[in-house]
Amino acid sequence: MNGLAYPFKKLMYCPACGAPTFKPKKIDKSPTGQLKTKQFGCTTCGFEFFRNAAASTMAVIMKDEDTILMIRRAREPAKGTLDLPGGFVDPGERSEIAMIREVYEETNLHVSSYEVHPKTYCNEYLFGGVLYDTLDIVYICRVKNWDDLRSNDPEEGEPLLIKLDELDPKEVGLDSVRRFVTDFLHSRG
Ligand SMILES: [Zn+2]
Repeated sequence: MNGLAYPFKKLMYCPACGAPTFKPKKIDKSPTGQLKTKQFGCTTCGFEFFRNAAASTMAVIMKDEDTILMIRRAREPAKGTLDLPGGFVDPGERSEIAMIREVYEETNLHVSSYEVHPKTYCNEYLFGGVLYDTLDIVYICRVKNWDDLRSNDPEEGEPLLIKLDELDPKEVGLDSVRRFVTDFLHSRG
């Protein structure tokens, strides 16, 4: 477990009894080489805690046939790199509502219609020294009115329109978004 950010170092004390005996039940290695666990247990009081992937959304919004709406990330992780609009689903929130909310927060645009992309993407998202696993749901969206395009929250990032033939997946910072963008560009030839 040496040198790993993810929870084994940050989650040591039992949230129920406070003893330093809060341990992963079983450690698995992910395809990226990260050590992960689905379940923690306290050997002092028997408290058990399960962790699951967090749902997140990506919105693909094309303007005309050859231009895509991207975000220049304003904060870590991957600050300064390109991203798609979207973000985490709040507890109790439907993912399509989260996607529409995030698009509005990041671009001031209203999604007028959308479809779910058939493939989802898994990601590892390092925040505050803890690696979160996400399951990213992709929506193919349409926007009728582009006049309102601007950032609603500069801390979230700056929206920008990029021609597909000028979009380099290497400029996309988050792994799952980069993998989607790579697949998307391939699918369009
Ligand atoms: Zn305990």
